This record gives sequence, structure tokens and C-alpha cells, in this order.
Amino acid sequence: MSIYHGLYTAKRLFLYFTMMPAAIKEAAAYFLPDSHRNMDMRGYVRPPCLQRKEKYLVTALVLMLLLSRCMGIKKQDGARFLHNITAPQSVMLQVNTPAGLQQMDMEQYLLGVVAAEMPAAFAEDALAAQAVAARTYALRKLLRGGCSRGGDVCTDAGHCQAWCSDADMRQLWDTSYDMYYGKIAAAVNKTAGQVLCYDGQVIEALFHSSSGGATEACAAVFSQNLPYLQSVSSPEEVRTHTVTYTAAEVRKRLADAVGETGLTPSSLAEGLYIAAYTPSGRVQTLQAGSKQLSGAQARAAFSLRSTDFTVSVTGDTVTFTAAGYGHGVGMSQYGAHALAQAGEDWQSILAHYYPGTALQSAAGVLRQ
Ligand SMILES: [Zn+2]
Repeated sequence: MSIYHGLYTAKRLFLYFTMMPAAIKEAAAYFLPDSHRNMDMRGYVRPPCLQRKEKYLVTALVLMLLLSRCMGIKKQDGARFLHNITAPQSVMLQVNTPAGLQQMDMEQYLLGVVAAEMPAAFAEDALAAQAVAARTYALRKLLRGGCSRGGDVCTDAGHCQAWCSDADMRQLWDTSYDMYYGKIAAAVNKTAGQVLCYDGQVIEALFHSSSGGATEACAAVFSQNLPYLQSVSSPEEVRTHTVTYTAAEVRKRLADAVGETGLTPSSLAEGLYIAAYTPSGRVQTLQAGSKQLSGAQARAAFSLRSTDFTVSVTGDTVTFTAAGYGHGVGMSQYGAHALAQAGEDWQSILAHYYPGTALQSAAGVLRQ
């Protein structure tokens, strides 16, 4: 092909693309019967006439473009991350990861959070509700000076919220990677950059793994009363977990937590009991001899899964049985899954666990 012919073809392709609306109609008309080709009569401007080979080339390019949009780019993970996200306007975050500070698009970051915070096998609307809670949590951090360890948010589940990299996801899901990745990306996209607000302010969107039938009010755990973090029912199957200690171990753990309690092996059965419950039915106070522990203190001292526990002393053995997993405040992840399975969508799941809140776009909140 001569240079002149190359330039000539390039010019005509350029014209063809710049007149794409009409060009697509022409490409379509190419496959239609003659009676449907009369576009000039309807006021369309015809692009320069293309040769048959060029028409095939342009049609193939358009089809490839459409196909790649539908299937995602699989060659490069970074590109694929961004490609699967369709939030209209994204927010950039400095994420404090074990590998150092990383600049991430909020929606890309959320894929890693939802993957790390909730089982990917959960119902899609539960995953979507989780995406909104996680986005809200991260945005509030961003608006309030970020994580105290550096960056806007860290990936320590015990400090900010969990996050995993694409490599972690591949390891976690193995052969189910494509399926679960697509499912979580769809759940994140479904929520389109939305965050939860109360009175126009981004809320403290706390969440936990599971609860024993009801969530806990924020005031009972974090000594702060927030109107949207009150105890609500959580219609999920109650999961219990039991831990057993010898009497000597219990006395040592109590001493470490609150000092000498005066309990002896013979007084343990009478001296160790639950003295008060919170309105949601969790332990508010554990009496241990002359000392008292809050529910949260007792949970930490005996490595319990929640403050919704019972205690029984039999001879030399002390047994704690805890229902649910986590602090119990805000959305229960297993509860969200149960609600989604019962047909609730992500908006009503969030409205249930964060009563009185409204959805707003994160980008809109930042513009305020
Ligand atoms: Zn943090």
C-alpha cells in the first residue's frame, strides 16, 4: 500500500468515526434490504462512501469495542479493576495497606473491602448493602482527617475495615475467582457511589458479623448515643460459640483485666454471675467477686465472640456461651444475608439496620 493510499484510507476512516451516528446507521443499512437504505431522504448526512473492505473493518472494530465492554479486560488486573466499576463520579482515597500507602479509586477499594468483609457466597443485595456501609465508613474517615495510622483509611479490620488485594482474592476464591469477582463488582456497581447520611451528615456506618437476634445500641458499646445506631431485630439464625476455662484460668484472666477479685475456687460458683443486661439483652455487667466488668471488658478478657453470652460454673470448669459474632452495633452481615434471601433489596436492608438514614451520592456529599 502506498503512503498516499494509506493517508487516504486514514482520512476516510477519521471522517467515518467523526460521523459515527450516521456511520453506524450506514453499517447497519449495509445488512438491510435496499428499501431501508434511503437515509438521505430522512435527513441523515451520508459519510464518505466506503469500500466494502473498509466497511468490514469498521464494523469489526465497533463489534470488538462493544464485546470488550461486555466481557471486561482480562489481561491486566489493574485495568480490569477499573473497568468493572461504573460509579458516575469516584472519590480518590489514600489506603494504608501492608505494602504502604496506595492511592485508590473508592469504588476499586470497595471491591477489596467487600471481598474481605463478607463471604462472597452471600446474596447480592447483602453484598450491595455491605458496599454502601463500607463506602460510608471510608468517606466518613476521609472527611474526619483519616486513619490515625496514616492515610485516609487502613486495611486493619480491628482499626478501620478489612481489605484484600486482587492476589488475595485469587487465593481466597481459587477457581471461583471469576464468578465471585463479577458478583462483587456487580454488587458495588449496583449501589452507584451511594453513602448513608443522617441529617445531611455521613453516618458512622458500623457493622458486625452476626447477632443473636437483635443488634446492640451504640451507646451500650461505644459510650456514644447515635440515633441511627439503635437496637433493632436481626432475623438471622443464631450462631453460638462456647469457650471453657479452668477456675484457675478464670481467676488469672479476671486479675489481669480488673485486679484481684477476691474469688476463691470455692466462691467462684456464687461470685461469678451476670449482674445486668442491656435493653437488647446483652451483658452489661459481669460481677466477679468484689469487681465488676462491663460486657465489652468481659468479652475481651475471655476472648468471647460477643457480649451476648451466658456463664456457668461447674466444679472446676467455667463455660461461656456467646451468641453472634462482633460488637453487635449497626448492620449484621448474616442478618443482611437473611433479609436479602427473604427478598429485601439493599436499600431496605440498610434502612432496617440504620433507621432514619437516607442515601446520597458520595461525590455530591464532597461537593457540599
Ligand atoms: Zn485505621
